[in-house]
Order: sequence, then C-alpha cells, then structure tokens
Amino acid sequence: MSAKAILPPSMLGILGGGQLGRMFAAAAKTMGYRVTVLDPDEAAPAADFADVHIKAPFNDAQALDILAKTCAAITTEFENVNADAMRELARRGVRVAPSGDCVAVAQNRIVEKGWIKKAGLATVPYLAIETVDDLHTDLAPYLPGILKTARLGYDGKGQVLVETASAAREAYADLGGQACVLEKRVELKAEVSVIVTRVSHTQMNTFPVAENRHEKGILDVSIVPATLSPFVAETAQGMAKQLADALDYVGVLAVEFFVLEDDTLLINEIAPRPHNSGHYTLDACITSQFQQQVRALCGLLPGSTALLKPAVMVNLLGDVWPESGREPNWAVLMEAPNVELHLYGKREARPGRKMGHFTVLADSAEAALVQAEALKDTL
Ligand code: ADP
Ligand code: MG
Repeated sequence: MSAKAILPPSMLGILGGGQLGRMFAAAAKTMGYRVTVLDPDEAAPAADFADVHIKAPFNDAQALDILAKTCAAITTEFENVNADAMRELARRGVRVAPSGDCVAVAQNRIVEKGWIKKAGLATVPYLAIETVDDLHTDLAPYLPGILKTARLGYDGKGQVLVETASAAREAYADLGGQACVLEKRVELKAEVSVIVTRVSHTQMNTFPVAENRHEKGILDVSIVPATLSPFVAETAQGMAKQLADALDYVGVLAVEFFVLEDDTLLINEIAPRPHNSGHYTLDACITSQFQQQVRALCGLLPGSTALLKPAVMVNLLGDVWPESGREPNWAVLMEAPNVELHLYGKREARPGRKMGHFTVLADSAEAALVQAEALKDTL
C-alpha cells in the first residue's frame, strides 16, 4: 500500500449511475467508503447505494465542482462520459482513475485500435474511415465486413454487415458520414474477455478468462473458466496486461478478444471499467471486479482474483419479463442453493434492457451451464 492510499470512510465519486455504478457503490459502501453518484436520472440504479446522488448532466460545471470539493477520488462506470470532465477533475487535484486520456481511447474505435497496434497486439484487419475518401481504396481485404461507427456503439448498435464495396459505401452514408471502421468479418471459434486491474506496472493482476456468448449483439452468458487451453488463456491474460501497461492504465480494464479457429487471439475492443462479462466475479472470486475498481481507485493493491468455483453468469434482459407486467418466476432462482440473483432495481423492463443477472456456481463450468440454461427456461 502506498502512503497516499485513500482509506474509508473517504468519499468516492462515480460518473454514471447505471448497474455498474450500483455494483461499484455497493462494494465501496461495504468497505466503509461513502459514495457520490453523478447521474441525471432520478431513478439511476446506483442511487439506491449512494450517500449522495447529484442529478445533473455529466458535464455540468456546478456538479463537477461539488465532486471536486467533496470526493477524494473519482471513477466512471461508462466510457461515453465526458473525458474532458475527467481531465478537469484531475487538474483540480482529485485522484481520477481511469484517466480521462484512457477513457478517451475507449471512446473511439479508431484511436482504440491504434493503441492496440502500438502495444504490439493484434486486431482484425480493419480500415479507419475518417472521411468518405477513405472508402475509395481497395476494400477487398476487409470484405465481407462490418462497418462500425467509431463512436458511441454498444451492444451491437451502430454496426452494419456489408458484403460488397458498394454496400459499404452505402452503409457509410446511411450512418450519416461519421467516422467509422470497416472490419473484416472473421470466423470466430469463441469470444473471451479478460479483466485486468492495474495500479502500476508492478501492481497488476487479471481475473480468470471468461467465455462469452452473445444473442442479437448483447452478452447472453459468460462461462468461467473458458474452454481454452491453459496456454491460450494465459496468452490472453498477458495481452490484457500488455495493453494496460501501454496505456499506463490505472483502474479496471476489460479486454474483449476474438478467438479464431487456430486459437489466434485478436483484441476486439476494450472498456475502461468493470464489464458485464466480469459479473461472475461477484460470487465466484475472492475479490470482485467492483472491489478491484474501489481498490485501484484508492491506490490499494489489487485483491486476489482466485476462482472459488466454476461459474456461469446469465444476463436477465427485459425480454424475460412477462408482458402482463408481472415479475419473472424468481422463486426458481432463489430456491437453488448454488445460484445468486442480482437485480439492478430498474423500474421498467424493456426488450434488450439489462435488468439483472444470475450466477450459477458448480463443480464444473459444463454443469453450471446445463443448470443455468434449465433455470433460464423456467423463468
Ligand atoms: P459492441 O460495442 O456493440 O460490443 P463489438 O465490436 O464488440 O461491439 O461487436 C459486437 C459483437 O459482434 C461481437 O461481440 C461479435 O460477436 C460480433 N462481431 C463484431 N465484430 C466482428 C468481426 N469483425 N468479425 C466477427 N464478428 C464480429
Ligand atoms: Mg463488444
């Protein structure tokens, strides 16, 4: 622990009050910290666990002033927060982690891929498209491909599948001519993610690798440990650390990978925060990703990431709620002795909206997956 470590009951601030902010706040409160959440939404999920909820936009000068004056350290729960606001808070002498610069990298796919390359790591073949002129080159190496907006994409939004060069040009115009990347669509054997916690080059660790399955572009289940050879899993963890080092990252960083048929690992994208695919750590690891976020923010050593049990995490989207407005059949989850239910306190269930998740702990990931799928079907 460094001399400057921030200890309870200091006030910690978080920009954003969604479910990630809620789980951060719960972790921080449990450790005895106080929490201030900045989120314009009256019903922000994190507000349930916060001492102070400032209801204002993320760039509101007065709100940022209150944060700067009352918080010992400030973090974020989403990448589309104003990076300049985070830089400003840091200039005012508050500890901010991750830095506004690192958050800015994750906000733009072109910048992000540039950093991945600079760190000596691999991405899918891609073309950065800043202006329409960039599309007037040979697009064949990137086709069939996926055109993705450089900014503000999540859960598969802002993405168009394109088979031909003319389709790519058309899709670019349909997206409003904004900066994009054209990525070659690769055949995936699997998708995995690694969450790394970094305080400094010598104070850094990773969680076990999660294998992620998506439905309609949204994470559906995470399986831990991933069905990868130990060598490939260790390689992924090493790559995540290498990227965190290149960025001189402080905080929790999620790194998403594509695994190709021959076990080649490509970095898909990063998130400068805890990640949906790391929710299993709440129940299956000695330290959770949210406790890590608190620790790194406060300049404390990362905790042990040891896996206590194989686990499968299942996302609960609004689609699971009956149309009648009734609640799903929670009893089946609550009565299972090896299942942990987490609900985010969102009032309205909408299709595709992340409402909660549950985690099944078992003696093997296979057994957990079988049980998880059966439980999901009975909701
Ligand atoms: P988001 O920001 O929405 O998570 P991603 O770039 O991670 O965007 O894409 C969402 C999902 O789409 C990925 O998890 C993967 O399943 C699929 N996908 C994205 N890019 C590619 C690609 N180049 N090749 C194959 N599948 C892809
Ligand atoms: Mg993604």
